[in-house]
Amino acid sequence: MTPLLDPPTAHAVHTGWRSLPAGQQPSWPDAAALDAAVTALAASLPLVMPRECDLLKSRLAAVARGEAFLVQGGDCAEDLDAINATSISRSASTLQQLATVFGYVMSLPVVTVARMAGQYAKPRSAATEIRDGVELPVYRGDAVNGHAFTQAARTPDPHRMVRVYHKSAATLNLVRAYGGSEQAGPGPALEALREFTAASPERVRYEPLTKEIERAGGFTGTGDGWHTPGELFMSHEGLLLDYESALTRVDTATGRPYATSGHLLWIGERTRRLDGAHVEYFSGISNPIAVKIGPAVTADELLRLIGRLSPEGEPGRLTLVVRMGAQKVRRVLPGLVERVTAEGLPVAWVSDPMHGNTIGAPSGHKTRRFDDVLDELAGFFEVLRGLGAHPGGVHLELTGDDVTECVGGGAGLGFADLPMRYRSVCDPRLNRDQSLDLAFRLAELLEAARSPGAWETLR
Ligand code: PEP
Ligand code: MN
Repeated sequence: MTPLLDPPTAHAVHTGWRSLPAGQQPSWPDAAALDAAVTALAASLPLVMPRECDLLKSRLAAVARGEAFLVQGGDCAEDLDAINATSISRSASTLQQLATVFGYVMSLPVVTVARMAGQYAKPRSAATEIRDGVELPVYRGDAVNGHAFTQAARTPDPHRMVRVYHKSAATLNLVRAYGGSEQAGPGPALEALREFTAASPERVRYEPLTKEIERAGGFTGTGDGWHTPGELFMSHEGLLLDYESALTRVDTATGRPYATSGHLLWIGERTRRLDGAHVEYFSGISNPIAVKIGPAVTADELLRLIGRLSPEGEPGRLTLVVRMGAQKVRRVLPGLVERVTAEGLPVAWVSDPMHGNTIGAPSGHKTRRFDDVLDELAGFFEVLRGLGAHPGGVHLELTGDDVTECVGGGAGLGFADLPMRYRSVCDPRLNRDQSLDLAFRLAELLEAARSPGAWETLR
């Protein structure tokens, strides 16, 4: 094994962002505690290796070329206390079941990426939250503060970043063990799909596709066989720059810096300003990266972002995650795809059909309608295919647990069901069945769209 990455060196990747405006950073009340946490992280082992990040980049290059499909998903915010071996394996196997359906439907190898082992920091729309006249700092993810509405919990505590690092290391350990086990083979995913279909209120609707997938034997990764069933990469929003920078290491073999907190990091919609600290930090790391784009982005702004984040145009380096809302995706996305395509920029286009479709339920819960999520995803496919470009994947907030956070889907969850098992500490997730409902319903729309002009009649 080549010597790697130790210790962190003085490198521009650690310093360049510090003089620039950094959105969504906590106000840590105790500078000495922050120093101690950052020092501990800087002395920690890398969670992922450059070789793995490069492998994911090559997989995502295939997505950008239209030769593979990305299935990315997991919690909006990981919850330090709730994550356990069961929840990890349920989420991993849900992703695998989704990969099985999407792989078959798209006839493409699937790259599977979890929002896991590091998804602990959240951008928020306000700095404080008021309840019954009491104002406290907003919850910013378990890497920053606690979810409970008390002064003690909500005070940012930098030692939480160290706890998150250790939990992420333990999570990765289980995921890696799971990847090498029987459970990761195509058999268990097929069995799970069979059971899901048999128990679904939509059984009659889903059965033909389930049978086809079973006949094909599950994973349909064509080509050179790189589609390894247990291969699961880790991703999170690279929001907390103190955390990310402290875990950045320069690969001694190549001299290139890598974020070693996860394989793929993304910049969120709220922190992607061109002159900001996040874009600067991300431009210095060699990992595959993604950026979320909402309906307000202009084509000029997007081209400049691509220029900053992927100046060499390396395929697989940059994934664009589109989150516009069901209403806007058909209107805003075409102009962006046209410009990026005309410039010949090799990016992967992926749909996040969750974040543009968040609504408030009468109970006050944040929720999303399954039908809106499906509609945005269908709109994304319609736009990309209409322009001869590749709809490269999905980015979902989901869990393998049977939560009641989004409404609709095969079981027809309603607003009144939300309080039953609403567990998310941030945004509402599709549960396992709703995630599969989404894949089956999209498959149905894609099948219907095979006849010319069919997209038009679907709306
Ligand atoms: C998220 O992915 O949880 C998120 C905050 O997304 P966005 O940046 O797209 O709003
Ligand atoms: Mn979210």
